[in-house]
Amino acid sequence: MYILLMGPPGAGKGTQAEKLVEKFKIQHISTGDMFRAAVKEGTELGKQAKACMDAGQLVPDSVTIGIVKERLAKPDCKQGFILDGFPRTIEQADALDRTLGELGIKLDRVINISVPADDLVSRATGRRICKGCGATYHITFNPTNVAGKCDKCNGETYQRDDDREETITKRLSVYMAQTKPLVEYYQDKGLYTEIDGRQPIDKVFSDIVASLRGA
Ligand SMILES: [Zn+2]
Repeated sequence: MYILLMGPPGAGKGTQAEKLVEKFKIQHISTGDMFRAAVKEGTELGKQAKACMDAGQLVPDSVTIGIVKERLAKPDCKQGFILDGFPRTIEQADALDRTLGELGIKLDRVINISVPADDLVSRATGRRICKGCGATYHITFNPTNVAGKCDKCNGETYQRDDDREETITKRLSVYMAQTKPLVEYYQDKGLYTEIDGRQPIDKVFSDIVASLRGA
């Protein structure tokens, strides 16, 4: 099973990826992990990527694509994979297409866990973290018994800077602008399925599995 998983920050992509890994015994390949592994292994491309990151520059597409290619060619991907966080541009999508062709792999489905921006903002801005033990709460969906106090350790709960409305809104608009052409790209290829990410976790998962079975 070869899956490309898309979804805005906060849509629960990580949770669904974990469940897919367990069900289909496939690799979860996220861009971040892939970069860290290439840098750690000290591959030629890993060194180039590190030099860019150390200099505070964007890693060029040629390097990113090379790292993706090396990763997907590894034996543990033979059973399948979930690719997460790549491609981000049409150029990368074309490069991925060529790479998969060379490896004799055909994508089964491109799954987009879709959640409207307003819902993502309210999900994120309601999140609270305990200063003491790191437990996470939500003021609406999972509130503490006493406002501002952790149920487990009585520590003070707070909102991360990352969860502030202006941060979330900005991050989402970048994501949406980046993703729109990719959605059209994979729709044209007949590979695209949108899943309603507002549903309960298990329903989101069963919808994903159903779309894969139909693939
Ligand atoms: Zn706590």
